[in-house]
Amino acid sequence: MPILEVNNLKKYFPVYKGVFLRPKGFVYAVDDVSFTVKRGETLGLVGESGCGKTTLGRCLTALYDKTDGNVHFCDQDIFSLSPKELKTFRLRVQMIFQDPFESLDARQTVKEILEEKYLIHKKHNRINIDDEIAVLLEKVGLLNADMSKYPHEFSGGQRQRVGIARAISLNPELIVCDEPVSALDVSVQSKILNLLLKLQEEMKLTYVFISHDLAVVKHISDRIAVMYLGKIVELADADSLYDKHLHPYTEALLSAIPIPDPETKKERIILKGEIPSIQNPPKGCRFHTRCRYSTDICRKEEPVLLINNREKEHYVACHQYG
Ligand code: SF4
Repeated sequence: MPILEVNNLKKYFPVYKGVFLRPKGFVYAVDDVSFTVKRGETLGLVGESGCGKTTLGRCLTALYDKTDGNVHFCDQDIFSLSPKELKTFRLRVQMIFQDPFESLDARQTVKEILEEKYLIHKKHNRINIDDEIAVLLEKVGLLNADMSKYPHEFSGGQRQRVGIARAISLNPELIVCDEPVSALDVSVQSKILNLLLKLQEEMKLTYVFISHDLAVVKHISDRIAVMYLGKIVELADADSLYDKHLHPYTEALLSAIPIPDPETKKERIILKGEIPSIQNPPKGCRFHTRCRYSTDICRKEEPVLLINNREKEHYVACHQYG
């Protein structure tokens, strides 16, 4: 049984205009998205900025309500939880945010930041919080002495370690990591990714890992879903996606990853035009305005995400493979 099952999920944000705030339309941030996440795996969610991946992550953690469809966590519909069930859900599902500086309260010490969850969930009577926080800090590579420091006293990487400590403090089962290394230097990124991998093994965690950077996603993911304008256009295990990608958008994203060997040359595919407005997505295939393989049918009919290789669980939404 998957730990997370997403079926036909839609999240639309209404747009209003004028002094009377008349409804003008919708931002189709997540538009009919379905996938599952297996316990213990990392599912990478990748796409350009504005493709809906962060909104999707917030729906998975019930921070946003749905417009339609459903999300089941361990067979429970997360949008129908009672307040008591929602509190338990928040123990089991956590989020790590992109900017650790913004997600941490600058007026609180690390100890105050980390003890908050124990207090909210009334776990403080049963444990020695100082001991618990000391263990947490060690787990994420920080020192006991860091407990009394404030966020501004840390580097970006150390602040993200505090963010990770906060996310794992109550032994969650699933963590949605929203661009957790995007704001960090390249040298620090790999250390944080390795920390996430170590914690996953130690704590049997499941991750949904959101990033705009396919190279980063490949490092950590078992399977990868590629998103474009609110839709998943390709979903496959990480190796298949890199070696046998099918969708023209994935092809373009992969072509932008630099190869460390200067002798090896590869064609960089420059996508034509701007990313269309998610408020008014193109008819037919949403990618047709930028696709170099586009034909008539692409402008008229929207391709459906279909299985292409059952053994590899490789799905693609493109008329070339329909
Ligand atoms: Fe390109 Fe057509 Fe495939 Fe869309 S359906 S990705 S436009 S070839």
